[in-house]
Amino acid sequence: MKFAHVNFLWDEKEASKLNGDEVALLVYRSNLLGSDLRITNYGGGNTSCKTAGIDPLTGGKTEVMWVKGSGGDLGTMTKSGLAALYVDRLRNLKNIYRGIEHEDEMVQLFDHCIFDLNSKAPSIDTPLHGFLPFNHIDHMHPDAVIAIAASKDGKRITRELFGGSVGWIEWQRPGFDLALKLRHYVDENPGIRGMILASHGLFTWGDTSYECYINTLEVIEQCAGYIDEKVAAKRVVFGGAKVNSLSQEERLNKAARLAPILRGYCSSHARMVGHFTDEGKVLEFVDSKDLDRLAKMGTSCPDHFLRTKISPLVLNLKADDNIDDIEAVKEKVAPQFETYRKMYSEYYNECKHPDSPAMRDPNPVVILYPGIGMFTFAKDKQTARVAAEFYVNAINVMRGAEAISEYVALPRQEAFNIEYWLLEEAKLARRSKPKALSGRVALVTGSAGGIGKAIAKKFTDESACVVICDNDKERLEGAKVEFSKKYGKDVFIAGTLDVTNGSDIHKLFDEASLAFGGVDIVVNCAGLSISKPLEEHTEKDWDLEYDVMVKGQFLVTQKGVEVMRRQNFGGDILNIVSKNALVSGPNNAAYGSAKAAQLHLSRLNAAELGKDKIRVNVVNPDAVITDSKIWSGAWAEGRAKAYGVRVEELPAFYAKRTLLNEIINPDDIANACFAFVSGLLDKSTGNVLNVDGGVAAAFVR
Ligand SMILES: [Zn+2]
Repeated sequence: MKFAHVNFLWDEKEASKLNGDEVALLVYRSNLLGSDLRITNYGGGNTSCKTAGIDPLTGGKTEVMWVKGSGGDLGTMTKSGLAALYVDRLRNLKNIYRGIEHEDEMVQLFDHCIFDLNSKAPSIDTPLHGFLPFNHIDHMHPDAVIAIAASKDGKRITRELFGGSVGWIEWQRPGFDLALKLRHYVDENPGIRGMILASHGLFTWGDTSYECYINTLEVIEQCAGYIDEKVAAKRVVFGGAKVNSLSQEERLNKAARLAPILRGYCSSHARMVGHFTDEGKVLEFVDSKDLDRLAKMGTSCPDHFLRTKISPLVLNLKADDNIDDIEAVKEKVAPQFETYRKMYSEYYNECKHPDSPAMRDPNPVVILYPGIGMFTFAKDKQTARVAAEFYVNAINVMRGAEAISEYVALPRQEAFNIEYWLLEEAKLARRSKPKALSGRVALVTGSAGGIGKAIAKKFTDESACVVICDNDKERLEGAKVEFSKKYGKDVFIAGTLDVTNGSDIHKLFDEASLAFGGVDIVVNCAGLSISKPLEEHTEKDWDLEYDVMVKGQFLVTQKGVEVMRRQNFGGDILNIVSKNALVSGPNNAAYGSAKAAQLHLSRLNAAELGKDKIRVNVVNPDAVITDSKIWSGAWAEGRAKAYGVRVEELPAFYAKRTLLNEIINPDDIANACFAFVSGLLDKSTGNVLNVDGGVAAAFVR
């Protein structure tokens, strides 16, 4: 078969290097399958193989099943992501199974069937693989198959398409009972090559890892090809366009301004991070005539709506509505959020059981804006991005189902039973406590090196998303490489920024709003120093110092506050000033006075912004030499000359004149910044925290 809708990636040369090691081949096959989102969604689906093993307790032969464990993603799974269980023990559990109302108690018993002590926790799907009498099994969530699985005539279409060689099982929540049903179906229908699970996904199998892989690909290819033909014959999808998308530039412009407002509403229970996409598939859906009808119905595959909530919020805004009038937009949007929250709590109250967990955050995860695109909000960037990916999966499913028949969503009660499944709740309860800056977004100027980079790293270590920026492109490239190696691509963006340039600042805050939904910590760290005696100071020197440090702090703060006011949940401005704002030394006229201006500007801002719950605080470092551009140039020579010491003696010189006799490092400043935003000092604004080893002359009076 020729594959046009899935990637055929099996490389026999690579596979043969694994010397027939079935577990290694399972990992290989899983990685190939998981690398193609058309085959399965992120984190979705599982794979298994059954092999002969030696029972360490008896020394005798035993059959062992290796299956993807709970959590993780097939695309990147390694052996440590697998659970290995005794097949006979697992199958014997049916002898003590008490019936469907008790099926959840079986999950704990899977642990008693574990063969390999390094196993990952077995997932809920374990018995589905265990009871099927095949050596190699794939369970995938392909959009094309779910489209058939979630359409009104899915059963008939499956029969026609595969002539009975692929079975059909009505919707049932995955678990022990479904496992028994799958086995029963296979026993009744010998010779079938796979099964479609209504509203859910696909099971396929084979005698070898390769045969299983090919079987999976062929079934998906056939479904996808069939849908493509139907879409082509119909010509219009989703009933055709109802609104026209704006140009990409206008879309991004609007989205950047609206995102912080939406983030504010979505954060009414817990601080959320956003993601925006206007990819073609999303626009086709949000612009369509069928949007209102289909969006309301909710998604189908349980994996989809666990990530996206029961249904999205479709904004009742026009693409050409003016987004710049914040109050007018809020007046329109606020009641829409109220309606959504009400819908969600009604859904909860109508469907809840006596032992259901308490209602979770009633805010939407997915927000659709016709003509503009899709916003998603979640506790961190990766979750928000994956929620968007899942909704695109859901769009694909609805698109396919509507083309071949009619889309059918999962019944609300079934959706609820999965969303508020006690086992799911237990999983949530096991999650580690979020770090102090989880859900927060920080923009740090001058963060390609020195103090700025240390601050950005500290905040990222504490789970914030960060915007790193600098006017030095080369240095910024280096920081980008370092950040993506250490933290991955989701949690930071980087942009060149000249803090004296209003349009640069504007652009970067827009990028931050598109990437994360907004900004709630701004750190003004960009700076430079020129040390010269009065008579040598040029007007240019003077202007540069004041432009970067005073005007720069002013402009960046101004824009940051604009974004914070859109979010409407307060924020933090941190200004990295200097001991020199408070004490005087020789050869320092422009730098020292600009630092004093920064300090007073901070106090003025604090006085003005308290009503918005925006705190403005100052960290006063002194003589931070490590990794600082300031100290690599003429400044160090200038200071050394001014103090009558040699350049290499400067760190010790600075340390010695402090009360604590300490050398100050960038991390010390980063820790001070963290102290201000960690939540412990929430009632402090207009403050100055010195990190200078103790310089009595620089005490705040
Ligand atoms: Zn599944």
